[in-house]
Amino acid sequence: MKTLNSRIPEGPVAEKWTNYKAHQRLVNPKNKLKLDVIVVGTGLAGASAAASLGEMGFNVLNFCIQDSPRRAHSIAAQGGINAAKNYQNDGDSVYRLFYDTVKGGDYRAREANVYRLAEVSNNIIDQCVAQGVPFAREYGGMLANRSFGGAQVSRTFYAKGQTGQQLLLGAYSSLSRQVEAGKVKLYTRYEMEDVVIVDGKARGIIAKNLVTGKLERFSANAVVIATGGYGNTYFLSTNAMGCNCTAAVQAFRKGAMMANPSYVQIHPTCIPVHGNNQSKLTLMSESLRNDGRIWVPKNIEDAKALQAGTKQGWEIPEEDRDYYLERRYPAFGNLVPRDVASRAAKERCDKGFGVNNTGLAVFLDFSESIQRLGIDEIRQRYGNLFDMYEEITDVNPGELACVKDGVEYYKPMMIFPAIHYTMGGVWVDYELQTTIPGLFAIGECNFSDHGANRLGASALMQGLADGYFVLPYTIQNYLADQSIWPRLSTDLPEFDEAEKGVQAEIDRIMGIQGKRSVDSIHKELGHIMWEHVGMGRTKEGLEEGLKMLKKLRKEFDENVFVPGSKEGLNVELDKAIHLRDFILMGELVAYDALHREESCGGHFREEHQTEEGEAKRDDENFFYVGAWEYQGSDDVAPELTKEPLEYEIIKVQTRNYKN
Ligand SMILES: Cc1cc2nc3c(=O)[nH]c(=O)nc-3n(C[C@H](O)[C@H](O)[C@H](O)COP(=O)(O)OP(=O)(O)OC[C@H]3O[C@@H](n4cnc5c(N)ncnc54)[C@H](O)[C@@H]3O)c2cc1C
Repeated sequence: MKTLNSRIPEGPVAEKWTNYKAHQRLVNPKNKLKLDVIVVGTGLAGASAAASLGEMGFNVLNFCIQDSPRRAHSIAAQGGINAAKNYQNDGDSVYRLFYDTVKGGDYRAREANVYRLAEVSNNIIDQCVAQGVPFAREYGGMLANRSFGGAQVSRTFYAKGQTGQQLLLGAYSSLSRQVEAGKVKLYTRYEMEDVVIVDGKARGIIAKNLVTGKLERFSANAVVIATGGYGNTYFLSTNAMGCNCTAAVQAFRKGAMMANPSYVQIHPTCIPVHGNNQSKLTLMSESLRNDGRIWVPKNIEDAKALQAGTKQGWEIPEEDRDYYLERRYPAFGNLVPRDVASRAAKERCDKGFGVNNTGLAVFLDFSESIQRLGIDEIRQRYGNLFDMYEEITDVNPGELACVKDGVEYYKPMMIFPAIHYTMGGVWVDYELQTTIPGLFAIGECNFSDHGANRLGASALMQGLADGYFVLPYTIQNYLADQSIWPRLSTDLPEFDEAEKGVQAEIDRIMGIQGKRSVDSIHKELGHIMWEHVGMGRTKEGLEEGLKMLKKLRKEFDENVFVPGSKEGLNVELDKAIHLRDFILMGELVAYDALHREESCGGHFREEHQTEEGEAKRDDENFFYVGAWEYQGSDDVAPELTKEPLEYEIIKVQTRNYKN
């Protein structure tokens, strides 16, 4: 069995990062000028990394598939970003953020990484404030905080319901400064199709100019991928339509291991699926759970009437409502972590208590908080989310529906869990380096810090920690001895071979000329994933799912139809390339889920649950990161390597959000 070196520094957990920074190799300013770094991605992780590396003096080539870095999917983030500032004086600390994150991840994250994340969280806020990010403030001028799931303190910094957008504008302004200074060269509407490896090291990429359709070669001393998650494997998700995992999967094919792919996050508060022709799901931010209360009827007759449309939510009086999260988890109530809230919603709906015509929805109700705080205050906090909900569903959650016995009943939102985030991803060591030397992965595309479940508001924290504060140090340790090598020519045979490989794949896909559209196969993939590799997984279901995925890959290979030509802009071709990789990713998720005979975080194996329906971990046999390695062909099952987890200060125990 292979071993993985996670390169965690020596010393006590709280001192590891300080020690690392004190001893890691540096690149002197003159040598930085000789070194080129490719950063693929301009989301919060990519933009912050590219801006920081440019500021430090490296020459950065920064790629994205959109027409502007500002359109990266990070812009969609609504709710907020965590940091351990303890501005509320409610008992927060670096240790507590670290502890909550490890516990929230169901004790499947690396202790050392998470401690570092909590440590640098406060720097992120300072950095963003200095950039002018307009975080919400209290009346006295202090930055405001709200609560997110899995924590009993308020540590989430936010900018209305547009936190991702404002943070990205901050990172983008730093990036633009470097573009103007000539230190970062931007390549928009370019898609990385392959990583080029020379002498065992990542030394460049092959990218497709999405406008001309031409393949181009780029060389550098190191390559950083910051290309986001693989949530769209499930077709319907809260991710932007363009999110894809092609760069990560291609790196996997070239030897980068993929870790914990089965850890997929299902977010409890999304607008429910309403039909078969839908291509996207919309998130209602977790921040709404601060003031919104989740419920279903206590009586099955009421649920049936709601499903039949003969009754409305507001007609059900207080005493007949089951605030099931508050009932089951008194200590955390509506603010339990996402995996717990999602499963609890599924449990109620499976028992027949769903509240819409499909039976797959629960209520999120603001009646109590509107009465307590007034509609103006609630709109101040969530106005844009209320507007978004109304635009999509034609229901205004701030509208008074009726008053009964002096109690005001407002129109509730309907929500249901949906695929949202992927905790798994490219395996990286403490330095964020993959198993290919010189190839780094940051942000959502690495497996990093969230274990089996990510707490709300911690993806932005991790992406910006990686880009602003971690990678700029750790990459130097790798680059320190790279400046002695001359700039590589892209005429090398390794570049030739990589480009030919990409071209051959494009020709193959264009040549299939079958009968099915890319979307129809992608939709089928989504159904297989949701039904067999979704919220509740079983051995039989996963085995069946794997068989179906293999058949679907054959269907793609023989029957996909891509119109148009490979020259020029061809969005269908780009989608087909993404789909090819989503199918492989889907198989990886299923292999990982099948082998992990336990339930933890977002991975719920129905065979492994407590009598109360909670996830049952098996620490004796599965206390490790599962890293999968490509075996030379998409047709061959990947091989597993285990990276054992070692905890020094956190006592591994059963998660408890009840008391
Ligand atoms: C609706 C929604 C709301 C969210 N709200 C929150 C929140 O409130 N708080 C929180 O912490 N997290 C939130 N998240 C999660 C968080 O937004 C993401 O995890 C995070 O923004 C990912 O950032 P990233 O930089 O890793 O990737 P992304 O922002 O996805 O950026 C990926 C970049 O890679 C580029 N790219 C992709 N593939 C290629 C390729 N092959 N070649 C070239 N370029 C490529 C893209 O163009 C893009 O620039 C939310 C997520 C969603 C879906």
